[in-house]
Amino acid sequence: MTVPLTAIKTAPAAPFVEKRPLEDYAAPERPSLIGMSRAALAEALGEAGVPERQRRMRVQQIWHWLYVRGAAEFGAMTTLSKELRAALAQRFTLARPEIAAEQISRDGTRKWLIRLPGELDGVPHEVECVYIPEADRGTLCISSQVGCTLNCTFCHTGTQRLVRNLTAGEIAGQVVLARDWLSDWTPTGGKSAGEPEKRLVSNIVMMGMGEPLYNFEAVRDGLNVIADGDGLSISKRRITLSTSGVVPGIARAGAEIGSMLAVSLHAVTDELRDRLVPLNRKYRLSELLEACRNYPGVSNARRITFEYVMLKGVNDSLADASALVRLVRGIPAKINLIPFNPWPGTIYECSDWEQIEKFSEIVFAAGYASPVRTPRGRDILAACGQLKSATEKLSAPERLALRAMAMTD
Ligand code: SAH
Ligand code: SF4
Repeated sequence: MTVPLTAIKTAPAAPFVEKRPLEDYAAPERPSLIGMSRAALAEALGEAGVPERQRRMRVQQIWHWLYVRGAAEFGAMTTLSKELRAALAQRFTLARPEIAAEQISRDGTRKWLIRLPGELDGVPHEVECVYIPEADRGTLCISSQVGCTLNCTFCHTGTQRLVRNLTAGEIAGQVVLARDWLSDWTPTGGKSAGEPEKRLVSNIVMMGMGEPLYNFEAVRDGLNVIADGDGLSISKRRITLSTSGVVPGIARAGAEIGSMLAVSLHAVTDELRDRLVPLNRKYRLSELLEACRNYPGVSNARRITFEYVMLKGVNDSLADASALVRLVRGIPAKINLIPFNPWPGTIYECSDWEQIEKFSEIVFAAGYASPVRTPRGRDILAACGQLKSATEKLSAPERLALRAMAMTD
């Protein structure tokens, strides 16, 4: 595709307009206990008739069943009385989000399309979740919103019309679902349950669909369930939250979440960043970098990751590389160069491989680890938002066939 670069570089940046998230979807009649905070779970037990003095202990027992052993039905919770199990089953479920389609890449990457309660004009609420196995870790990329209120021009998710915030339960539910699907539980509840190196899902990146800092409370509460040491036990040092640059949210995330931070930089001047990440018109580069400098706990052992998508002829010159290292100087940082993942209708192209290498050499010579994020799952529809849009084009029977294939795989 040949797009005149001047069109990208000089056309006036789109005004900063946000879509409004849809909040009035119907929650299920019997709520799921999956992903509830300990406090919400204690309240739920109260509703099921558990006296207050017993609630703490019962919460601990149920937490262990849900997040260490992976119980999917109340009947499995043999340390609870039959009466309590029945009372819980009457009011609640252990429902996980549902996998509507799965794709498995030759390199082992798995991409799931996840169906959530709710629909708009016949289009179900769906998000994506990707599992990436590596030699020393298994990373799960989770979503925070259906769609996104922001409109980064190179991002497919930004083009989607429907936006709704995920609940904390749906955020933590993606990890539960991945452990189900990968048989990554400890059914006997053994001692090794909490040891990350024994888990297939050992790391979390919040780099799926949505802007996590625009769904702050649910993201914070969901991540607290994921990090709880008596349960899913993925420590905050193994959780990375990626933001497009919601400056006030960065300080709040430092105070209330405490995960690792990744920032989608993508450009070294306000002029270009205004075009790529329209949120830049609200929060300028200088404010964004200041917020990164002040992020609590930043040190050489806990670096901020700057993400930089490689767009041919747009932000990939060697002068850009030099400006990039000057811009982040003084901040303990890693720089992640991401090959652009094209999607139908995009005006951008991925930089040439030689250019990415030259760019990365400059970053490396300045003393920054600059892993080029190896494109994973290139044989399946890999870019954020693509599995979802591909299945939206399928008829109902085709979707069912895809689902059946997923179940028998
Ligand atoms: N909304 C958050 C997190 C989700 S996007 C954010 O923007 O940071 C995760 C990363 O993927 C971001 O760095 C985003 O800019 C990048 N990204 C989006 N679309 C992409 C594409 N088509 N190719 C490569 N990277 C993309
Ligand atoms: Fe939203 Fe992130 Fe995509 Fe921008 S890059 S539209 S913030 S998901």
